[in-house]
Amino acid sequence: MHLAKQAEGGESQKCQKHPGMDILLYCKEEACQQNICTRCLTKDHQKHEVVGILEGQRNGLAIKAEMVMEHLIHVQSTAQSVQRNLAENFAESTRKLAEMKEEQKKLSDILTQVDEKVTTVKEIVKAGPSLAGDNWRQNRKS
Ligand SMILES: [Zn+2]
Ligand SMILES: [Zn+2]
Repeated sequence: MHLAKQAEGGESQKCQKHPGMDILLYCKEEACQQNICTRCLTKDHQKHEVVGILEGQRNGLAIKAEMVMEHLIHVQSTAQSVQRNLAENFAESTRKLAEMKEEQKKLSDILTQVDEKVTTVKEIVKAGPSLAGDNWRQNRKS
C-alpha cells in the first residue's frame, strides 16, 4: 500500500494519474486508501468513502490559531499591565512635568539674568578692557 507523499507546507500536490489536477481528497476505501483528485473521484472512486484532505489542513490551522490566540492573550495582558502602570504613573508624570516646567521657568529666569549680566559685562568691556577684567574677577569670587 503506497500512500502519496503528503504535501509539506500546505503546498497542493498534483495527481499522478491526472497531471495538473490538485490532490484534494483521500479515498478511505480499503482497496484504495490513497490521495486522489476530483477526476479520480468521478472515474475510479465513485461511491467510495472519500474525505477532503483540506479538512486535515484546516485542523492544523485551528491548532495554530489557538496558539496564536494564547499568545495574543498573553500579549494583551502584558499590554494591559503596561497601560495600568502608565495610568498610575500618569499623575506622577504630570506632576514631574509641571515641576520640569517650573524648573524651565526658573532656568529661563536665570538665563535672562545671565543675559543681563552679559550685557552689563559687554558695556563694561566697551568702557575699558582693564576695568572689565577686574570686574569679571570680582564677580567670579563672589
Ligand atoms: Zn486523479
Ligand atoms: Zn477509492
